[in-house]
Amino acid sequence: MMFFAEQCTWGFRLERDTSFQGDYMAGMGVCDDPSCPCAVVTIGCTESNPAPGDAKGIPYIFQLDLDARKVVKDLLPEARPESAEFAKSYVRELGEKEWAHLTDIFLLAKRALTENLNPVNVRHQFQVRDIENEATMVSYASVLPFDEKLVFTHDSREIYVENYYCLQSDRNSKSVHLVFHEKPATKKRRDSSAVASAPSSARSVGCPSCAA
Ligand SMILES: [Zn+2]
Ligand SMILES: [Zn+2]
Repeated sequence: MMFFAEQCTWGFRLERDTSFQGDYMAGMGVCDDPSCPCAVVTIGCTESNPAPGDAKGIPYIFQLDLDARKVVKDLLPEARPESAEFAKSYVRELGEKEWAHLTDIFLLAKRALTENLNPVNVRHQFQVRDIENEATMVSYASVLPFDEKLVFTHDSREIYVENYYCLQSDRNSKSVHLVFHEKPATKKRRDSSAVASAPSSARSVGCPSCAA
């Protein structure tokens, strides 16, 4: 299922490609699972001032992968075939600022989903065996990767906090494990464009109160 947040519409102008030159309105949809780490979005575009008598509906529908900064090759069944060419022209005209804007809209939608969490849509698979046998704690960001990070500044260094929780079913464990990461001073483009907020520490943390 797709989720469209109300605020997720914007206008833009295409200037280079003569077949698509003009002003457009766009809307973005994201997958409705707040725990899904993909950054694939669906964008529908329609001309701001369509010629009278133009066919109704959304003329161009395509998908973008915001992490790879690429058009998703296969069109959705409801997309008209011209959407593929349009998507190419659109992406050609995106600069850093526009990519950042798309990421902002994406995060807005994912955070709206996270805040109004509907458990039915969360398809996250917990490592039940590790949780029960090894008392492995689960990081919040591994379940809800797009929620806002816990960040603070210390000695002009930006630190973010990763929080792990104990999910052992047979104990009433309230243990929380915090990991502090320092943001590197110089970041490569990959870092700045990676959309998910999950820090990359993949190591597992055992619950000190439950581990045997
Ligand atoms: Zn997804
Ligand atoms: Zn525990």
